[in-house]
Amino acid sequence: MFKPTVEAALEAASVLFNLPEYRVLATVRDEAGRREVFVETPAGEAACPSCEVFTARVHQRTQQRIRDVPFDGLVTVWWIKKRWRCGETRCHRATFTESTEQVPPRARLTTRLKDRIVAALSGRSAPWTGSAASTESRGRRPCVS
Ligand SMILES: [Zn+2]
Repeated sequence: MFKPTVEAALEAASVLFNLPEYRVLATVRDEAGRREVFVETPAGEAACPSCEVFTARVHQRTQQRIRDVPFDGLVTVWWIKKRWRCGETRCHRATFTESTEQVPPRARLTTRLKDRIVAALSGRSAPWTGSAASTESRGRRPCVS
């Protein structure tokens, strides 16, 4: 018989949330009842963008809000983002933050959200159709920045 564990629940949440390269750490409701999802990448190392030497030294973790597709209504997504310390002594860059295909450097929204906005603006599809559609978000105009 299947016995649920915390790990199994988080894996299930990650599968449902379906943001490539990320895993769900926690989901909560804030005081107003809005849903928040906390995610991280499972990366154990990263290459320095300057010297390309890999490092496994995490300097610190920061919390960055990223805008993502609605999931049966709006969801606030928080990325627990790693700042890596470059281990190469001759490198001028002391630290750097992680980035992914879904959230490139300096991006504030996911690639999948950007793709949906571009498709909607070009008339190829409605912006929030599919499993992520909600009446709450249908009337809103997307904001690309
Ligand atoms: Zn470096």
